Amino acid sequence: MKQLEGRRALITGSLRGIGFGIAQVFAREGAEIILHGLGDAESIAAAKTEILNSGAKRVDVFTHDLRDPKAVEQLVQEALNSGAVDILVNNAGIQHTAPTSEMPSEKWDEIIAINLSSAFHTMRAALPKMAERGFGRVINIASVHGLVASVSKAPYVAAKHGLVGLTKVVALEYANSGSRESGGVTVNAICPGWVETALIESQIQARADKFGGNRDQGIADLLSEKQPSKRLSAPTDIGEVALWLCSKSAHNVTGTSIPVDGGWTAQ
Ligand code: NAD
Repeated sequence: MKQLEGRRALITGSLRGIGFGIAQVFAREGAEIILHGLGDAESIAAAKTEILNSGAKRVDVFTHDLRDPKAVEQLVQEALNSGAVDILVNNAGIQHTAPTSEMPSEKWDEIIAINLSSAFHTMRAALPKMAERGFGRVINIASVHGLVASVSKAPYVAAKHGLVGLTKVVALEYANSGSRESGGVTVNAICPGWVETALIESQIQARADKFGGNRDQGIADLLSEKQPSKRLSAPTDIGEVALWLCSKSAHNVTGTSIPVDGGWTAQ
């Protein structure tokens, strides 16, 4: 028996990167998947095919822009109109690095809207139905930057710290839903360190430039600063942690923020 048979998962920002890695793992375990993100028709079709080939029973795709709160609500409503949402992964996120005095204020607004506010809107719309059924899983993809700070990332660090706090509040509000048998309703955050995706590519390239364009040396330099394992995570590594949170036996794991950071926040 596959672990997620009969479950349907909405994963924001899942056309590529960590969200796509989570979708691959959930599909392998037989879930129905709602892919979501911004992309051209070709990349959307390719992502859908790959997730079907990974084992998903059904794949829907939505492209709502999470900068708009109304669109976020519509995304969840349309997902609920076409079936249940047993698992909600708030994963979509963007980054922009600059010292605070040089950070464009529109980047602040965008990062807060996508990385923080969209999770409030999706949880608000999806959780009541999970509570009615006695089973639900919300997994918020925060970051080590939800636990500690780095320079030049003011909106990102603020949004991720906010997401960790929001996770705790909502976890408390739903802690008593369902039962051990039904699996309960849990709300948790995963806090990755460096994961190999397009999001960190410009930061890798900036380091590679210091070594005559050598990408491997650029990555090693980036990791040596803060991630003691000196290994990047793969997107599916985050998917495996999310899968465990979806198990019934994790019914009492709620309100937590789980670092997957090679020791970054242990220092
Ligand atoms: P990515 O850039 O590869 O993917 C981001 C996804 O979000 C894409 O599918 C994109 O279409 C979607 N998205 C962006 N803006 C959107 C918008 N306005 N409306 C709808 N969708 C939008 O990034 P990733 O590295 O996979 O990051 C995923 C999450 O993981 C983010 O929340 C990020 O902060 C977090 N994270 C990443 C790392 C890392 O090292 N890559 C580390 C810690 C946390």
